[in-house]
Amino acid sequence: MLLKSTQHQFSKFNIVFLLILFNLTFFAQKEELEKYIPQENTSLLTNPPITLRVQLHLVYRYENDAQNYNLDSIKLIRDQFGWVNRFYKEMNPCTLEAQDKEKHFIPDSRIQFRLDTVIKIVDSVLWDRRYYALYDRPIPIDSVGLNKIYLDKRYFSRFKKVDSLSINEVNYSITNRSRIDNVSILELSSNVESGSAVKELYYYRKRELNCDRYIWEKYANSDQNSIHVFYTGSSLNGVAFGCGPKPYFLNLTNLINGGGWGNAQLLAHELGHTIGLAHTNYPQFDDLPKKDKFGFIPCNSTTVSNNIMGYNQCRNYLSPKQAGYVHQLYSTKPERIRLTTANEYKAENTFDIWYDTVWDKAMVVTGDIIVRKRQTLTLNKDVHLSENSRIYLEKKAKLIVDGATVTNYFGTKWKGIVICKSAHKPSKKPRWSRNLAKVILKNEGEITEVFSR
Ligand SMILES: [Zn+2]
Repeated sequence: MLLKSTQHQFSKFNIVFLLILFNLTFFAQKEELEKYIPQENTSLLTNPPITLRVQLHLVYRYENDAQNYNLDSIKLIRDQFGWVNRFYKEMNPCTLEAQDKEKHFIPDSRIQFRLDTVIKIVDSVLWDRRYYALYDRPIPIDSVGLNKIYLDKRYFSRFKKVDSLSINEVNYSITNRSRIDNVSILELSSNVESGSAVKELYYYRKRELNCDRYIWEKYANSDQNSIHVFYTGSSLNGVAFGCGPKPYFLNLTNLINGGGWGNAQLLAHELGHTIGLAHTNYPQFDDLPKKDKFGFIPCNSTTVSNNIMGYNQCRNYLSPKQAGYVHQLYSTKPERIRLTTANEYKAENTFDIWYDTVWDKAMVVTGDIIVRKRQTLTLNKDVHLSENSRIYLEKKAKLIVDGATVTNYFGTKWKGIVICKSAHKPSKKPRWSRNLAKVILKNEGEITEVFSR
């Protein structure tokens, strides 16, 4: 008995301990995410905008016949990307309160998409992403009565999603189905043509290939360094729909039915998925409302949000943590960073370190870093440098890399560390060696992918 109770206490202790651990990691993760939120007053250097590179594939059903947007639609397509960027840049305040009864708002997500190329592909199989396919095996018919056919009960469930079937090469649509005892009964839109004996039927099964791996495996896998957006069609009429299951792939089908502005909203939403965001019917972060009603309905102040990741007609808001999460992904994950313009050097994005500074978030640097005389820059998290970036260390400056890596993820090399008297004259060294800047590596800190002269 005693043993049992001790065991019991021990396991309780374990659970409490686990809970504390879980809470600590959870808290640490939350804290971590906060650093990446592009708050209105944060510097554009420490929380820089992310620009994602996009390649658009216009899939034609036949040569000269896209049955969707085509190369003549480029102006509209560019306009739509412009609108998408506006949804992400000039956000509206949220219509719904978050779980903590607050309304969290940042005006600019600092996330942008740059349409780099538009490619035409003629591929009628790739084009057709939603259609009825004739199912290859027939089903035996027990008997026929005018507009009804009788089958074994085990076939009942087959016809859930089937709109039409074919008997002796004549097509019928199903208006009703029922089951009595061991018999399934299908009611058809017209009487079955008698004549030769009716013994079996073929049926059409709806194929949904919007998200199909065929598209990305055939056309996008070889280049995972930009987001490949596909515009495909569908031989079934219906609303436009989309799917973005991979960081480098997204497909939009039947756009032609969606209208210019509506299509841009759909594009903004699907791009949201590809950059890591989930639907808002259940909150991904605690600064989102507990519930968000879906259904392409106008947003309101009680049940339907205006979140880009909801199903609403507003789609002009992201919460600070939604934006922060995207920034965290695109500052820390090499495969994500490679989808951005992070390898494009821009001198105006140069950091000037005039005071002792600690970087405790991962940084994507597209300019240079200048550590001024006698100042120290400590890096606690990884730093990515563009291929033309340099780090200048002036007289008596220090660069401490503490448990972090300084590198380039594009398979290119950055230009290295310049130890100098002053960044204005980078070739001039301090006269005394004791005044040379120092690079200190701590806790397995590393500097890699440096161009060696
Ligand atoms: Zn969605």
